[in-house]
Amino acid sequence: MAKRISQHCSFCGRTETQVNLLLTGINGFICDECAEQAYNIIKEAGLAPASAPGKFVISRNELPRPKEIKTFLDQYVIGQDDAKRYLAVAVYNHYKRLMQKDTKDDVEIEKSNIIMVGATGTGKTLLAKTIARLLKVPFTIVDATVLTEAGYVGEDIESILTRLLQVADYKVEQAEQGIVFIDEIDKIARKGDNPSITRDVSGEGVQQGLLKLLEGSIVNVPPQGGRKHPDQKMIPVNTKDILFICGGAFDGIEKKIAQRLNTQVVGFIASKESKQIDRNNLMQYIAPQDLKAFGLIPEIIGRLPILTYLNPLDRMALRNILTEPKNSIIKQYIKMFAMDNVQLHFDPEVLDYIVDKAIEFKLGARGLRSITEDIIVDAMFEIPSSDVNELLITLDYAKEHIEKVDYQRIAG
Ligand code: ADP
Repeated sequence: MAKRISQHCSFCGRTETQVNLLLTGINGFICDECAEQAYNIIKEAGLAPASAPGKFVISRNELPRPKEIKTFLDQYVIGQDDAKRYLAVAVYNHYKRLMQKDTKDDVEIEKSNIIMVGATGTGKTLLAKTIARLLKVPFTIVDATVLTEAGYVGEDIESILTRLLQVADYKVEQAEQGIVFIDEIDKIARKGDNPSITRDVSGEGVQQGLLKLLEGSIVNVPPQGGRKHPDQKMIPVNTKDILFICGGAFDGIEKKIAQRLNTQVVGFIASKESKQIDRNNLMQYIAPQDLKAFGLIPEIIGRLPILTYLNPLDRMALRNILTEPKNSIIKQYIKMFAMDNVQLHFDPEVLDYIVDKAIEFKLGARGLRSITEDIIVDAMFEIPSSDVNELLITLDYAKEHIEKVDYQRIAG
């Protein structure tokens, strides 16, 4: 019987938990760092193939599986399991779709763009950025708030693809297989119920423009971004194989979800079932019709068939965010001090205190860093010029430093 191979890099010996990614071979494993080093050695020996100017290639062995993608995300992002699973599957399928081009049957796998809904600061951008670390296709994050209809102040919708072209080094064929994360998609929702009264330059018109990109068409992209102008040479880009991941806070959408659930309760669902609704986290029941009620046009919703949500971060999640991720805030400060040969420690009560303050000032996960910074900024100023080599942050020390700060200035 075959012996089970323990999961560690066959080159450096580090285990799965010590590396970003462990690739599986026939008789062993290789971690991301060793793979990179191996590639550099081959390159130095002059044996690496010149980077292909056109077609993007990835072999089936290189393809990270959904579980591997999720495990990778788990190292950096706390919780949000649903969103992680949806993203992992979507990215995996995206790769498979790129590979299917060489098969000869008539079954064409269509792309499934994604939309992630969740309060600000719950990890949408972090998820997108973390996925980007793993990807072997061009990836970019763009902000929907800067987009307006052609002819108005702002950026043309096509400029979304400019960044993608730039990261692909203007290799169009590679950009055409990339992934774009469009942040703040909710900001282009239709503002009022009746769009015809006033012109909605940053709403429905932009959605119509975006639709063209999402559904797959040849778009003329201004190579430098911003506004198109007549003298500029445009680059035609086919968006058929570009995967779009959209994210937005959709502030107030819970009300629309609640309204829908209430009518459903009256109309269709037996009272036994309605009791199971968790009113504290309505986001988990989000459905396409809620996006429509919020102001996205049905055609856009139709082009974003995968809908997932992020949970609000509770005390426990915030506490974990401080210490658990691979590059957690606390780990970063410890490293910074270690570079000055100072061992930094925190009393556990200090970490609870930071979380309490983030909740009290309604700063969410984003506040954890600024609060921690305020606690140790004095130490970071003094210690590099002193002969201290160990520092323990106690609760009293933390309180003393936080009480000096006027949090009204950063509280949102
Ligand atoms: P969003 O895009 O949802 O508004 P971000 O992803 O930009 O939020 O999160 C802001 C910051 O908060 C991140 O840089 C990260 O430090 C922290 N954060 C938020 N959610 C999480 C999470 N689930 N796990 C780890 N860190 C998180």
